Amino acid sequence: MILFFGTRPGKTETKQLPHVSCPYCEQTGTLIISRTSNWFHIFWIRIFKVSSKKIAECSHCKRTYFENEFTEEMEKGLIQIES
Ligand SMILES: [Zn+2]
Repeated sequence: MILFFGTRPGKTETKQLPHVSCPYCEQTGTLIISRTSNWFHIFWIRIFKVSSKKIAECSHCKRTYFENEFTEEMEKGLIQIES
């Protein structure tokens, strides 16, 4: 019997970060968070979430921020939209 398992990305969710300013162009409310989750699969059935990856993009200056570049303000905004 062959077992098929592995991880693959789920769908990407995007959310706007309100009241948070972009550290680069200093515009407020322009940051969009994209979150992609990786799922562990066995026979194409989702078993559990392995990890999720977040990036932020500014719709004004088009700058992309990876999770390790998020400012404290962005982290706080994220907690607000996730709760
Ligand atoms: Zn910007």
